[in-house]
Amino acid sequence: MLSWPAVALPPVTKEIKFPELSLFNSYCKVIEPVPSREPFTMYVCGITPYDATHLGHAATYLSFDLVHRYLTAMGREVHFIENVTDIDDPLFERANRDGVAWSQLGQDQVDLFRADMASMRILPPKRFESVTEAMPRIIMLVERLIESGMTYQLEGSIYLDGSRFGDYNDLPFSNTEAIEIFATRGGDPMREGKHHPLDPLLWRESSNGEPSWQSSFGSGRPGWHIECNAIAWRTPQELDSDTSNEWSIDLQGGGSDLLFPHHYMTALQGRMISGQIFAHHFVHAGMISYQGAKMSKSLGNLVFVSRLTSTGIDPMAIRIALMLGHYRTDREWSDEILGRGESLLARLRTVLGRQAVPNYRSVIDEIITELANDLDTPAALHRLDKYLESALTGDEEMNPGELSRFLDSVLGLAV
Ligand code: ZN
Repeated sequence: MLSWPAVALPPVTKEIKFPELSLFNSYCKVIEPVPSREPFTMYVCGITPYDATHLGHAATYLSFDLVHRYLTAMGREVHFIENVTDIDDPLFERANRDGVAWSQLGQDQVDLFRADMASMRILPPKRFESVTEAMPRIIMLVERLIESGMTYQLEGSIYLDGSRFGDYNDLPFSNTEAIEIFATRGGDPMREGKHHPLDPLLWRESSNGEPSWQSSFGSGRPGWHIECNAIAWRTPQELDSDTSNEWSIDLQGGGSDLLFPHHYMTALQGRMISGQIFAHHFVHAGMISYQGAKMSKSLGNLVFVSRLTSTGIDPMAIRIALMLGHYRTDREWSDEILGRGESLLARLRTVLGRQAVPNYRSVIDEIITELANDLDTPAALHRLDKYLESALTGDEEMNPGELSRFLDSVLGLAV
């Protein structure tokens, strides 16, 4: 599907030296440099389009936007892919409740999402692909697993025989906890006949009225995790120009609530299909809470980006407010945080609006150093704010243009 409009990236001065970007890898639990292969392939799990973009989504996509921007600014090519889960139970439930076609609801919500991403100046993915678009490739992967004997059938459904051919020895939780979490995040551990409670569903028979697709193994629709294997991997067209037999991508990202089971199962399936690791780096963004609880539909405490901007709040202030917390930290959204974002933005506008400002070479280096260290945006913004404070009374030495282009390019702050 169409991505949102490209965001112009002003060039940064060649003299700026970017250290390697290091990010916390949730798999080995250390901060380490991201892979140096070209292009850098980054896959971020996208939305299920049944409601507008809330600040939890915005914080996640902002985190990976910073990765995208940093690598691009240092001269690397980023192949960024994002999916849209346009076939999912919550989408069908919402469409039924509201009496609209699921496909129409999905399309409307994706339009809103694109507008929110564009207003937040998130760089668009090179490939923005929905499950319905990727269906032939999803079916191909399930066929491949069936042919390798790594699956079993349960009525009209097909499961991965994970305990027999993969393993569940590296679960991020105890077996019991994993089963409990699996049940709350789309899994069906208690279904009778499963070989192991955690075995992920690859294909299911569609219930009455739900969309279904024909395949050599029956008509139905895909399970959740296999869609991300299919979309993250290169398309046949992309593979045409590459004979490396390299399946692994460089980074898989998403909110920390996707770590298990979604990313775990995608990685397991990826290993079973290709014999290679699915992603070198697994990166997870923290959750945003509001009024003391994680933002969620069921609690009704969602703060929508579009609602904030429709009241005149500058999307750049929202960007700054989210960056005042570290991307991996679960954090609280509040009017106070937004106020801090607005006030930093106002100071920035005042300084960048001058004819000449004090020398900013060292603050640029400081900001880069903080970002290279696992995207430490709170420290980077602190450095920037210190400079702005001193700039209000300091010597007028340089034109602010280079600083303005740097902040736009690397932090996405167009002021
Ligand atoms: Zn995913």
